[in-house]
Amino acid sequence: MTERHRVVVIGSGFGGLFATKALRRAPVDVTVLAKTTHHLFQPLLYQVATGILSEGEIAPATREVLRRQRNARVLLGEVTAVDLAARTVTSVAPTGSTTTPYDSLIVAAGSSQSYFGNDRFADFAPGMKSIDDALELRGRIFGAFEMAELATDPDEIDRWLTFVVVGAGATGVEMAGQISELARRTLPGDFRNIDPATARVILLDAAPAVLGNFGQKLSEKAAKQLRRIKVDVQLNAKVVDVDATGIDVEDADGQRRRIASMCKIWAAGVAASPLGAQLAGQCGAATDRVGRLHLEPDLSLPGHPEVFVVGDMTAEQPGVAQVAIQGGRYAAKQVRRRLADRGPQPPFAYRDKGSMATVSRFHAVVSVKNLQLAGFLAWLMWLALHLFYIVGFKSRVTTLLHWTISFVGRGRSERTTTLQQVYARQALQRLDDSRT
Ligand SMILES: Cc1cc2nc3c(=O)[nH]c(=O)nc-3n(C[C@H](O)[C@H](O)[C@H](O)COP(=O)(O)OP(=O)(O)OC[C@H]3O[C@@H](n4cnc5c(N)ncnc54)[C@H](O)[C@@H]3O)c2cc1C
Repeated sequence: MTERHRVVVIGSGFGGLFATKALRRAPVDVTVLAKTTHHLFQPLLYQVATGILSEGEIAPATREVLRRQRNARVLLGEVTAVDLAARTVTSVAPTGSTTTPYDSLIVAAGSSQSYFGNDRFADFAPGMKSIDDALELRGRIFGAFEMAELATDPDEIDRWLTFVVVGAGATGVEMAGQISELARRTLPGDFRNIDPATARVILLDAAPAVLGNFGQKLSEKAAKQLRRIKVDVQLNAKVVDVDATGIDVEDADGQRRRIASMCKIWAAGVAASPLGAQLAGQCGAATDRVGRLHLEPDLSLPGHPEVFVVGDMTAEQPGVAQVAIQGGRYAAKQVRRRLADRGPQPPFAYRDKGSMATVSRFHAVVSVKNLQLAGFLAWLMWLALHLFYIVGFKSRVTTLLHWTISFVGRGRSERTTTLQQVYARQALQRLDDSRT
């Protein structure tokens, strides 16, 4: 009996999951290799960090999502090496390493936070790329109010109640908006020594506009709404240093100043998965300055038509979910067509379905082709689209419930942070360190 065609998919994010699902009826065996056990809906990470949603609602177990897909199996492991010549992928898990052979490979390992060469900032201003990041930030944000309640020195209270979000793209805007609403709508009344509503939320960016990629009109509307909900928007302000107690900023006139703040959040800059550089080294593909790969028009690696790269690791398209979804489906279709001895598809062409970002409850900005919308209607569109893409019926129901609690009411259902999370993270880190 001849062996079935083996497809290995690296990553269980948007690209990996949608590629796998698109192979559901194909005569192949799919192995999904990912370093987390869940599929993550990154656009809502900020709601986990600010206590609106639970981690389970935006990160269902990948094997549960793929339970009914009999030709797919899910393996936990961080891919450390791809051997293009031998057609194998090596991954490591806490118990050891695994080598998985492939006939076709779809690489969708995404991107990580970039500190523009200042990795030491990460300890003081965590980014937001994973559930671990969001839970850590949740601990830091709610913890800052707790520390302020304990403090007696007014300067110390100010430091704890000053939140700085670096990066005024969609993630930074959403994060700053939610911290401000948390401080002014949810927390008042919970404390005795401090007034949470006096918290300062500063949104910083070296660029001259918030949401620059949405165009001038929507950018200005978003900035206006941010100011309305008391977010202090500081533009043309470049971060030059970050430490435990504050952040140093250089303004457009070259003047440096310091913002005293204990809770900083990094929402600026991405770098493609290092697997991109590894693949480029083996096949001679070019990479851009953040390590994304330049590919053949059908998303395959130069000289390796059996290897596709999709999503945030690709240089030609923007780093958004739709690029990964469409790329994943395209690569899967290419595999299916080859197996059926059908000719190739036309080159991959990303269909831009538009962008959206929430600024506050009931206020979002949406840019779809010629339609530019800001306000409540845009927020309803945001709500409908995000509900549609959240994976699983039960997540949709509980998400809607939590949104009602937070946006119609004032509550936040997910304020819990536990020491166990901190200990587990440290234990895993030690395990990781002992391996290297
Ligand atoms: C906070 C935030 C908000 C965002 N908001 C929006 C938005 O509103 N709209 C929008 O369109 N886009 C948004 N994006 C971007 C969007 O989420 C990404 O473009 C999309 O997730 C990219 O999909 P991907 O499959 O390439 O990578 P990811 O979804 O990041 O998936 C990467 C997968 O690879 C796995 N992985 C990584 N390295 C390895 C390895 N070495 N071995 C094994 N597995 C590995 C990861 O565990 C993960 O499963 C946002 C991103 C972030 C971080």
